Amino acid sequence: MLLILILNAGSSSLKFRLYEMPAEKLILKGLAGRIGERESYLNINGESVKTTIPDHGRAMELIKEEISHRLPGFSEKLKAIGHRVVHGGDRFIRPTVITDEVKQKIKELFDLAPLHNPPNLTGIEAAEQYFRGVSQVAVFDTAFHRTIPETEHRYAIPENFYREGIRQYGFHGISHEYVGKQATERLGNTGAKIISLHLGNGASITAIDAGQSKATSMGFGPLPGLIMGTRSGDIDPSVIFYLVENQDYNIGDVKRILNKESGLIALAGSNDMRDVEQDYARGKPEAVLAMEMYARRIKKYIGAYYALLGGLDALAFTAGIGENSPLVRQLASKGLDHLGIVLDLAKNINPQAFQGEIQAENAKVKIYVIPTNEELAIARKTYTLLYE
Ligand code: AMP
Repeated sequence: MLLILILNAGSSSLKFRLYEMPAEKLILKGLAGRIGERESYLNINGESVKTTIPDHGRAMELIKEEISHRLPGFSEKLKAIGHRVVHGGDRFIRPTVITDEVKQKIKELFDLAPLHNPPNLTGIEAAEQYFRGVSQVAVFDTAFHRTIPETEHRYAIPENFYREGIRQYGFHGISHEYVGKQATERLGNTGAKIISLHLGNGASITAIDAGQSKATSMGFGPLPGLIMGTRSGDIDPSVIFYLVENQDYNIGDVKRILNKESGLIALAGSNDMRDVEQDYARGKPEAVLAMEMYARRIKKYIGAYYALLGGLDALAFTAGIGENSPLVRQLASKGLDHLGIVLDLAKNINPQAFQGEIQAENAKVKIYVIPTNEELAIARKTYTLLYE
């Protein structure tokens, strides 16, 4: 029996989960939040206390103290730390033991993921400081998409840009891989064709063939594809030129607008799907339009990926919205009967009662609701890399 600590460091947060492996038993979970702000907090197993946390180093120290307090012998049993790292670029296509050279490479990828890789590295350095001698492993969100062929991941722009690394990378790979694997196992067919829909505040959709990612909706960055909480998803780049050249916006403004002020929040006034659903139920026109646009965009990708995969065995819904919104699942699969995608409306209301399988009887394509668990996926990968 050994313990593996999973860390997911954001710009002002440090999330953790502690697993006993290989039993995959969740021992403790928590979050240091609002790091660097006036009033930070530490949440362990759902209980929050307000405290001062100026930086990720202090957050790590507090988390270590809290776990040690609750779990005598913790330091001796802790054998590895698995880190979620968002961008692995071309360099990291599998889980990797962290060395000085690996940290340097993660740093070189800062330009490609300016919001995510810097805090990810800060988390790694804090863990090194407080858990000396414990093996550290980086698991990359882009890695699952390494199998997307050049015909798909390349942009039709001059080749020199491609050589400089300007291509599609894709994100949410840890989640898509985890959900795709579960769907594949449930189908009992290692060659299954699956479309996985990660619908959270950020959202992406991936075509999976025989366990490999073949296409995904996010790109060089996390902006394209589906309509998200605050991101626009697909948009004609001409809009950006127009805003900068003719409307006096600078490029920073446009970046903020497309990343933080678009998507559901722009269309319906809230980036929380629960609010949008409430307004939809009341018939508020903005919410009705937002929901219809949201579902239509998903359908466009389902159609495109169905064509690319040359068939489809299952759709798999996951993440905050995918797991919890019957309405989104219903609207996104409505009118796709001709593709063999037919939802059972009663099962859709309460998927748990049907082991997460909600297609209509005799429908050709299975429809699954599969809770994602990126932390467990990282724990498994860390354990496999070090011990199998
Ligand atoms: P995630 O990024 O995966 O944590 O997903 C966050 C989003 O899930 C939130 O912004 C909510 O809009 C959405 N969500 C969570 N619970 C529900 C629910 N019961 N119904 C609809 N949407 C939900």
